[in-house]
Amino acid sequence: MGISLSEKKLDIYLSELTYKVATFKKRINTNLAFKYQTHSKSSLAHLINYATTAYILVGKNCPFKCTYCSQNSDLNTTTTQRVSRVGWFKAPDNWLELLSQAGFKRICFQVAGGFENSVIKLIFKIHNYYLKLDLTPPLISVCARLNYNQAATLLTNGVERICIALDEVKPRFRTGWKQLYSELMKIAKSFPGKVTTHLIYGLGESDIEFLDLFRKLVSKGIKVGIFAYTPVVNHPSLPKQQPNPLKWRLIQIATYQIQYSIPHSIQFKSGYIQKIETTTEIVHRAIQTRGCKWCNRPYYNEAVKSFRYNYYYPPTETELKSELEFLKEHLIIPEQYYK
Ligand code: SF4
Repeated sequence: MGISLSEKKLDIYLSELTYKVATFKKRINTNLAFKYQTHSKSSLAHLINYATTAYILVGKNCPFKCTYCSQNSDLNTTTTQRVSRVGWFKAPDNWLELLSQAGFKRICFQVAGGFENSVIKLIFKIHNYYLKLDLTPPLISVCARLNYNQAATLLTNGVERICIALDEVKPRFRTGWKQLYSELMKIAKSFPGKVTTHLIYGLGESDIEFLDLFRKLVSKGIKVGIFAYTPVVNHPSLPKQQPNPLKWRLIQIATYQIQYSIPHSIQFKSGYIQKIETTTEIVHRAIQTRGCKWCNRPYYNEAVKSFRYNYYYPPTETELKSELEFLKEHLIIPEQYYK
């Protein structure tokens, strides 16, 4: 389709966990005696079974300057190595070899600093690399501030999904939100089933506002990955804390039920969910990470031992029981669902 590919060399970073999982798997692949099954559950070995998506950051020092984002080019460079809680490593020269050996099912590019045609070149490079090795290339998502033509170019050049992250429900900390929203809607209409967005919970919106926007997006066939706001930037107008765990769980359940058109009733108090009708099976699924297929973003919003905003794996029976106990005053569950 005659796209001219810029030769600009891109800065490429691997998320800390992508890097660790890939190098760990390389050790396993090259040392068959390595007994990784014996590691404790909270270790990298547990994560390895579930790390299905590789996260790659392209570029840095973003000119769009969202106040809450550490890639904002107005910030000093010491904070730019994070997105949400996640740290990033400059990709080593053999990054493609590492990723291909690790068996990731999806690669998600998060593009800071404006979209470059070189990203498409990178996608060709990945496809060619896998095909040369007779491997199935992973699905590819590109998350960037894209316009219609850029999204169309990506989706017709090997990208499985594009993501335009709205992030905010009530735009206060980023510019150009309305334009982004209308572009997102236009793209979703032309490319059904190919579009994702992100919403951050905890930037000062009410639950009713969050769910209203969520509903609108889902009705247009857009997949929504929800994130718990994680303070990484010190700014007087930004919340100082992550969302209350109880509120977050209730919003997870409500959004899950909207996403899968599960009829339910909700009782609100002053704009926030007080009680929600659900089942234990739904709770089990709703508290796991959602977004593009195979994306589970381990530890994007929490440290290993703190409250787990998103489970990157199906919670165990014990974990589910303790979640239900935590939520019990706020759930309306038909009796037959109690175990
Ligand atoms: S849902 Fe996951 S894979 Fe999809 S764009 Fe967002 S972070 Fe990337």
